Amino acid sequence: MKIGLRVDVDTFRGTKKGVPALCRLFEKHHFKASFFFSVGPDNMGRHLWRLLKPDFLIKMLRTNAAGLYGPEIIFMGTAWPGPQIGKRLSKVIIDTVNDGHELGLHAWDHHREQAKISKMSSAQIYLELQKGFDMLAGICDRSPTCSAVPGWRCTESLLLEKAKFPFIYNSDCRGTSIFRPVVNDEPLEQIQVPVTLPTYDEVVGRNGITDANFNDHLLGLLRPNELNVLTIHAEAEGGKCLEMFNDFIVRAKAQGWEFVPLGDLVQAAGEPPLGKIVQKPFPGREGWLACQETL
Ligand SMILES: [Zn+2]
Repeated sequence: MKIGLRVDVDTFRGTKKGVPALCRLFEKHHFKASFFFSVGPDNMGRHLWRLLKPDFLIKMLRTNAAGLYGPEIIFMGTAWPGPQIGKRLSKVIIDTVNDGHELGLHAWDHHREQAKISKMSSAQIYLELQKGFDMLAGICDRSPTCSAVPGWRCTESLLLEKAKFPFIYNSDCRGTSIFRPVVNDEPLEQIQVPVTLPTYDEVVGRNGITDANFNDHLLGLLRPNELNVLTIHAEAEGGKCLEMFNDFIVRAKAQGWEFVPLGDLVQAAGEPPLGKIVQKPFPGREGWLACQETL
């Protein structure tokens, strides 16, 4: 019974404080995970301001975003260019890799990709990927073996651009099983490892789920003999939710679950079935998310 654990790192603060805290936590519990880093400018403050719509405000209040991300997130990149995360915090990334965790690319500019990916040309998408890939590979002296698009905003054009990089797999969508995506009737070489479980910010504050019963809810969603992939955020579970996540690990392990990097699940999967990526609205999230569709 395995849980593929994916850590998304979106911000400067999440990299600086959340990643080392999570590395210590995983060390304490003797397991490895997959880390997906954002390495370009931290413009996530711009992200929050741009999304000042009623739904998003409710979500901010519901999940206490300033409490999760820290007060400076509100201003990151709004009045001046955000700090380049990879340049300033390369040591954190190197330490993570040296601890034996799986290295993945999340983004160059998380805000830009999440907000604009569906409007970018293929060349612009390629450039974003290349800048992130080159910086991460330069920092670690090795290529990232996997990637995960910000905010699950995956399109078929993105998959085609990713195919130009040596990723073994990508984790760009929500779904239930590992699959090989098909674009323009062609199966792609890079397989998809969908996220099967909800994130903290998607469910807390809705349908009676609070910090007090979030772990019960999550444990109840685990499925033996099926794919289980969980995304946590360095900004949340590596910060305000660290104790809560520690409790989740303890309880999951007591039930016989083991935490592994997503790459381990890929190795065990063999040749996966074909599937497609489609864009759909998703509970607890703004706009659309990429979802798995079986063929
Ligand atoms: Zn992210």
